[in-house]
Amino acid sequence: QRPRQNELKSKATAMTKAGKEHPPPPPAEVYEPPSSDRKDGATYTVGKMLGKGGFAVCYDGKLAPTRERYALKIVKSQMPSKMEQKFQTELQIHSKMRNQNIVQFLRAFAFDNCTYLVLELCPNGSLMDMVKRRKGVTEGEVRFYTIQISGAIKYMHSKGVIHRDLKMGNIFLDRHMNAKIGDFGLAALLVTGKDMQTIRRTTLCGTPNYIAPEILQKGRQGHDHMVDIWSLGIILFAMLAGKPPFQSSTTDEIYRRARERDYEWPEPSKKYISPEAKDLVANMLQEADRRPHPDEIVQHKWFSTGYMPTTADMNSNLREFPPE
Ligand code: ADP
Repeated sequence: QRPRQNELKSKATAMTKAGKEHPPPPPAEVYEPPSSDRKDGATYTVGKMLGKGGFAVCYDGKLAPTRERYALKIVKSQMPSKMEQKFQTELQIHSKMRNQNIVQFLRAFAFDNCTYLVLELCPNGSLMDMVKRRKGVTEGEVRFYTIQISGAIKYMHSKGVIHRDLKMGNIFLDRHMNAKIGDFGLAALLVTGKDMQTIRRTTLCGTPNYIAPEILQKGRQGHDHMVDIWSLGIILFAMLAGKPPFQSSTTDEIYRRARERDYEWPEPSKKYISPEAKDLVANMLQEADRRPHPDEIVQHKWFSTGYMPTTADMNSNLREFPPE
């Protein structure tokens, strides 16, 4: 246990230090230098700050000629090597993704000692903000988001990408309240060996509440894409119940409870959750090789036993900010 504890602590320290690495606020106008596909360069008018991450700050940005809005994710060009590595991974993997439920990566450029990522704008915050604001969501809404996220996971896995940090805070909401997976900083590209066996990744990463037990195992064999299905199970539980299943005051206790699948659904008198929903979550929180694949998830009986809103319903019911 000890070495892993230290590993976790040093990761936590790195995260705290990273707080000091945020870039300074950008000027009111930012210039993208000319490039092969944009010979005259471009100008973005910087609007309000959308949020801060471990080392990035995001602003609303308007492209001058078209007035199209984007999220400008800004990081310092000079970063400590660990951050630099995370950022390079993000750039390499995220820029190759193209799916309706993944935050679209448009371009990257350098300006004023910072690197700018131009991303699809998600003006309605994350699933985390939505669940906090509404103290839980309806089963219909959870069905809607489960289908969208499963589709994005199927796409990522088909491209050999494991996200490894799926959580409510990394699932953003576009102006129509569609879910868009973002933050590919911990993602991994599965490499296929000579014998076509997947070389499993063995790095410890993720956020305590959402980490699959096989990542924590001593002498672990490595882990594969099914860790994303575990995280989806946690997201589903959290959306339905209002908090993640293994929530505890210490990280060790969260891990113990995850290993033992020690979770309880809210009392039915306080919050009714259908047995079908509970069954799907239980399936996702099994041993890695027993978890359902995205196609199996969306065929689960839970999806045919109740109401599911359309995009238009989501748009009118939940939206925080009106579309432009
Ligand atoms: P980090 O990689 O440093 O954790 P994130 O990608 O989580 O940074 O971004 C930091 C914050 O910026 C997010 O919590 C969110 O508030 C905001 N943000 C990130 N991407 C977008 C986006 N595409 N649209 C709107 N806001 C975003």
